[in-house]
Amino acid sequence: MSVDSSNRAVEPEFAVNAGDLPPADMVDASLMQPRLEASWLRIRSRLQAEVGDVEYRTWLRQIRLGAAEGDEITLLLPTRFLRDWVRSQYGDRLGALWHAEVTEIRRVELQLGTEPASSAPSVGSGPVSPASVPTGRQQVAAIAEPHAARAELAAPLDPRFSFDSFVVGKPNEFAHACARRVAERPSSPGFNPLFLYGGVGLGKTHLMHAIGLELTRGNRVSVAYMSAEKFMYRFIAAIRSQSTMEFKEQLRSVDVLMIDDLQFLIGKDNTQEEFFHTFNALVDAGKQIVVSADKSPSDLSGLEDRLRTRLGCGMVADLHATTFELRISILEAKAAASGVAVPPKVLEFLAHKITSNVRELEGALNRLIAHANLFGRSVTLEATQEVLHDILKAHDRRVTIEEIQRKVAEHWNIRLTDMSSARRARAVARPRQVAMFLAKQLTSRSLPEIGRKFGNRDHTTVMHAVSRVTELMLGDTAFAEDVELLRRMLES
Ligand code: ADP
Ligand code: MG
Repeated sequence: MSVDSSNRAVEPEFAVNAGDLPPADMVDASLMQPRLEASWLRIRSRLQAEVGDVEYRTWLRQIRLGAAEGDEITLLLPTRFLRDWVRSQYGDRLGALWHAEVTEIRRVELQLGTEPASSAPSVGSGPVSPASVPTGRQQVAAIAEPHAARAELAAPLDPRFSFDSFVVGKPNEFAHACARRVAERPSSPGFNPLFLYGGVGLGKTHLMHAIGLELTRGNRVSVAYMSAEKFMYRFIAAIRSQSTMEFKEQLRSVDVLMIDDLQFLIGKDNTQEEFFHTFNALVDAGKQIVVSADKSPSDLSGLEDRLRTRLGCGMVADLHATTFELRISILEAKAAASGVAVPPKVLEFLAHKITSNVRELEGALNRLIAHANLFGRSVTLEATQEVLHDILKAHDRRVTIEEIQRKVAEHWNIRLTDMSSARRARAVARPRQVAMFLAKQLTSRSLPEIGRKFGNRDHTTVMHAVSRVTELMLGDTAFAEDVELLRRMLES
């Protein structure tokens, strides 16, 4: 697999020799430059109005202004494909628009390149050079340069979503191993397609980017990553502009195609159909496909059967809901990377409180860190509750006695059944008392009701537990902190 390196080549823009120089009366660079730029801005907005936003963004936005020479203006496009396409579809229109703006210009030359003409031979002896294209646009061009054809087609990969920054634990180890495997040896039998699925914020997109980043290192392989939504918009734009052939060709020219959040295609029959054909063409050509969705292929009802079948043919790996341990590991890794000291108790608290998805967990931690940096205060449990008040509130639920029992049992590593067992060993009895104490504090249940939930114990046993725990908390700070932590975690 190789990248078409010609995409990156910038064709020689101008061969300057005396004969090529335009008549002296037409060359006044200092006058022409601002005028050309202003004209180009107007032409762009005219075009955008004419063809519509989607099409403009898909095909025309990447045109850069080159140099004017004689009666000719040069426009630059980052890929051969785009250049040919714009030439065939818009060449005449561009010519007319330019002529209307600057009567001296009668021809538009479309060339391969991303650099504005300021890199061309020096002004004065050579062609007119509209030197300063605003830097913003130059940056866009720079981003489009490596893998230009794909960059135009696909979304950029986020360098933060690497394998290095992905924390592996039980719930995601299989998906992670599959992703690693595909990144090492794409298109291996049994791993094509790779289908990653799981709930929101569990790391599907992260893993896909990680695969892409790994594979594009050193330009070994061309990778196109995009959301299913983007796939659909691209496809629609192609239909509108009657360029579906080019769209197909572009897609089929990549080594690895990754489509994120495939569930988006449910109910979008035409796009699904197109994806199905692309999928088959790529797999038949020995290219790797990676797809993510919120459900397994068999549960994605609403996707065409034949597509679901093919999606399930390779490797299907799910990302399970995170466990407490994984959440702690992720928080530890992110806290360490931030350089802010976050006490373990705070990490535990967050990992207990925010269980739904990693994105929210990260968001909460980021806010804590930002707060600590901003005010130069150290992170404490109290500060955490204050700073994350709104987030925590959204995660609050009514606490049940069962939940209290579960959390307390987890905390002291005893069996849940011991909450109602007759065992009286201290290691079991103490946590049980704490659970009773918390049940009294955090629920509106009566003492007899609570007693019943703890293996049909008498209400006096619950009373005794409450006073015992209160007493212990006064004398033993470590114990008090434990109970306090549990209370905060459970509190609604
Ligand atoms: P999904 O695509 O499954 O909805 P994402 O991949 O977008 O989820 O993950 C959401 C956020 O959580 C991202 O910022 C991602 O980096 C982070 N994240 C998820 N899982 C992990 C993990 N195991 N290790 C580190 N960060 C993770
Ligand atoms: Mg995602």
